[in-house]
Amino acid sequence: MLRVVDNAAASDVGRVRKANEDSFYVRVPLFVVADGMGGARAGEVASDLAVTAFKAPLDESVAPEQRMATAVLSANSAIHEKSLSSPEFEGMGTTITALLLGDQELTIAHVGDSRAYRLRDGELTRLTDDHSLVGEMVRRGAITEAEAEVHPQRSILTRALGPDGEVEVDTLSHAVRPGDVYLICSDGLTGMVDEATIAAAMGSGSKMQEVADQLIRRANENGGVDNITVVAFRVDGEGGALPDAESPGDAGDATIVAPAVELDSPTSGSAKAAPPDAEAVRPPVPQTAAAAAASGLDEAARAEHSRSEFERRRVATGKSRRLVGSIIVAGVLLLAIGGMIVASFNVYFIGGNDKGLVTVYRGLPYDLPLGVSLYTRDYVTATPVVELPEDLREHILDHKLRSRADALDLAQQIDAGKINVDSVGIDGAGPSGTTGN
Ligand code: MN
Repeated sequence: MLRVVDNAAASDVGRVRKANEDSFYVRVPLFVVADGMGGARAGEVASDLAVTAFKAPLDESVAPEQRMATAVLSANSAIHEKSLSSPEFEGMGTTITALLLGDQELTIAHVGDSRAYRLRDGELTRLTDDHSLVGEMVRRGAITEAEAEVHPQRSILTRALGPDGEVEVDTLSHAVRPGDVYLICSDGLTGMVDEATIAAAMGSGSKMQEVADQLIRRANENGGVDNITVVAFRVDGEGGALPDAESPGDAGDATIVAPAVELDSPTSGSAKAAPPDAEAVRPPVPQTAAAAAASGLDEAARAEHSRSEFERRRVATGKSRRLVGSIIVAGVLLLAIGGMIVASFNVYFIGGNDKGLVTVYRGLPYDLPLGVSLYTRDYVTATPVVELPEDLREHILDHKLRSRADALDLAQQIDAGKINVDSVGIDGAGPSGTTGN
């Protein structure tokens, strides 16, 4: 019998956003992360509705994949209905990535660009596909993973809960092995922290809370441009029954207090998870679902943890002050250079903005380091990217350089709902031949 021996969740607003639109929910052996988007506070509402759909008991009469898909579909309906109820919620959406551990199997239901990872024998495996424009381009071979990471359109989703009354849900199941470590995160982590760092943290042998907190700290050190959420758990086969899904308990709150992880130690070599100390694992204590969701870990451990984190953060602040200074100088220089370059451009391209709306940009579709873009926004349509005809979406958003007249003409046709193959100007080069870099 496999069971969750340690688990944790952490979420942080990051260093740029004003509100945290991510949500998570844990009721061992169920783990859910949602990353909401939409104007004002609508993203928060969407992601909260998404995880709320998992708070009701899952339908045990059907197979796990169907059980999970049903919860996701009910989340989609709830969000879509709410989005129609008031202009403030119009167009809101969210990702969802939900994991359910069974006796031998892990079942995943997934929509969007949050991710699930598994670390096994030191090897990190991404278990989900990103339903994003760049994710699709990577899978088609049009761009590389490295190009996707800095692509200006990297936050544009091609699938989300909410915008449509129907949604396609990815469901899949994997065999689980003792020692596996699983992690679910929003793109605020993966946009800031590379996978080698994620693998090193998951394999550090630390308590899951330290793993989650360390990864969030790293994302913030690297810019923290988005909300960051990390849910992590370790599975093992040590005695004791798997906590019953109907009487959730937190099996993870009594594991060994692991040695503190050095702030600057990605230690990519020793990525194998340390076997848990069987004596230190307390039998699962039944809790109410609400208590399990609200705490997720022992209060004393939490207090102890935040003390040590505070000390470490102070050390980091002293060390990083000079670095921050030189980054600011370099950033101002790059901004000035970038601004001059953009001002000299007379080319335009079409992409999506951070609200997911089709947008005409002036300049070139590239970002310089430190967040300097070689493009400025020229015209924002009222049309969400997800509403473009699927077969034309990539041709419209392919970053082909156009004249302003052509780009605006296309934008107006999009808003008028009159978009077709002729207006996009597909030149018969085939689906992968039109991407210009
Ligand atoms: Mn996000």
